Amino acid sequence: MTITVVGTVAFDAIQTPFGKVDRCLGGSATYFSVAASFFSRVNLVAVVGEDFTDDDASIFAGRNINLDGLQRVAGAKSFFWSGEYGFDLNVAKTLDTQLNVFAGFKPRLNDEQRRANILFLANAEPKLQMETLEQAAPKLVALDTMNLWIATAREDLTRIFRRVDLVIINDAEVRQYTNQSNVIKGARQILDLGVKTLVIKRGEYGVLMMTDERVFAAPAYPLEQVFDPTGAGDTFAGGFLGYLASRPAADDRDLRRAIIFGSTLASFTVEKFSLDRLRQITLDEVYARYREFKALTHFEDFEV
Ligand code: AMP
Repeated sequence: MTITVVGTVAFDAIQTPFGKVDRCLGGSATYFSVAASFFSRVNLVAVVGEDFTDDDASIFAGRNINLDGLQRVAGAKSFFWSGEYGFDLNVAKTLDTQLNVFAGFKPRLNDEQRRANILFLANAEPKLQMETLEQAAPKLVALDTMNLWIATAREDLTRIFRRVDLVIINDAEVRQYTNQSNVIKGARQILDLGVKTLVIKRGEYGVLMMTDERVFAAPAYPLEQVFDPTGAGDTFAGGFLGYLASRPAADDRDLRRAIIFGSTLASFTVEKFSLDRLRQITLDEVYARYREFKALTHFEDFEV
């Protein structure tokens, strides 16, 4: 099965307590596509500028990623984001966002992109997400967003929440959107809009998945060295939806496994800057860490 992702392919400048890099490959759709392609075919829909070289594009080579939707615009610069993290690596501080070529981006999906089973609307202005959604009729639509859009485009965001099946956001965003300090109460409010499954990322504390009837909680993989959290959320979304798209039924058992695959892939991303670690790993390494994850959370029940 296939996934279409619409998002950014970008350059980032990142500062963490452990190091600094002035320009590296980033973007929501970049992390997402590489992670999802471990399990499913991905149609990447994004735009880059002239500064995006063939060497940069090599990140996608040899993977199950269709690049027909990666537009390159001459004479323009790619999306650029600069961010900083303090010792609390769960909180990214945006220092600079330069939309550049992304400012005029109007995604036009072709037949193959439209027909994908899953559509992932990566973090972008809700209006753009809606315009994209209106071109497709997938089995499942998933969406990510960020604090900026909750603050500046709340109504548009609510409109699109009502149209999607699955929302992947972090706990601070649930609090900000719902004005609730209790994340579970806030999550209920979002589910009440018609979202079927809400996946709440909690950084180093793991993930909560909620539906009207069920809650599933997974820890984050306990890493001693978290170097750069940039892209963890998009890598998680890629592993999660990539695995889900590979399952014919996508039932509750698949959803739970998908949460662990997403968390497993994200745990690799944060070990190095940019996609430096994610691009090195093999599917065998992913499965090995997945099994460690299973052992980590396993306990024997007693007879009652
Ligand atoms: P995350 O997975 O949430 O850490 O997302 C990291 C990626 O999102 C970075 O590589 C950035 O290039 C990209 N990004 C940051 N801000 C935005 C934005 N406003 N719109 C789209 N992409 C963004």
